[in-house]
Amino acid sequence: MLDHYLENLISKPQPPWASLNLAELFSLKQKFSKPEEKKPLAIAIDYDDTFTANPEMWLNVMQVMHSFGCNIFIVTYRHDNQQESQDLEFLKHYDFVTGIVFTGRKGKKEFCTKLNIHIDIWIDDNPITITHSMKGISIDNHYLFSLDAGSIAFTLNESKSEDAAEYEKSLGSNVIPFNLKH
Ligand SMILES: [Mg+2]
Repeated sequence: MLDHYLENLISKPQPPWASLNLAELFSLKQKFSKPEEKKPLAIAIDYDDTFTANPEMWLNVMQVMHSFGCNIFIVTYRHDNQQESQDLEFLKHYDFVTGIVFTGRKGKKEFCTKLNIHIDIWIDDNPITITHSMKGISIDNHYLFSLDAGSIAFTLNESKSEDAAEYEKSLGSNVIPFNLKH
């Protein structure tokens, strides 16, 4: 059996990769396989009490994210007016900041979607501002928010939503008797 194998090995011409070690094989595979077409991750970082909590740290983190091919957006609930936007002016000078979005108290997710900016990961000290718009301030100074229409329906990643939903049902999650997608 072994003799037969050795005989074959000697008599048959060997392909060029037969003498390569694992590392060489791996680098060959990388060289010739199609690069995966991966959409760059879009990351939103809030400004007030998120970026401002430690600007030096976030500038470094943003550079690292950018070096991994991510698109970094500063998405703030502030209005785009002189008074509210001037603090953020300096961020325009960093090439690792793809854009600055002022939502003017509108829910960040829906606002960005309307601008065709599709954020994958949100970093925010005040997550309600992602899905809710501010409606006003009560006479006793409470901020009032309302959920943006449609926010619930597109919370889950489309490609995973069916499996994820089945999994949730298997855990005994509430099945709501109406269809969110019309
Ligand atoms: Mg904030």
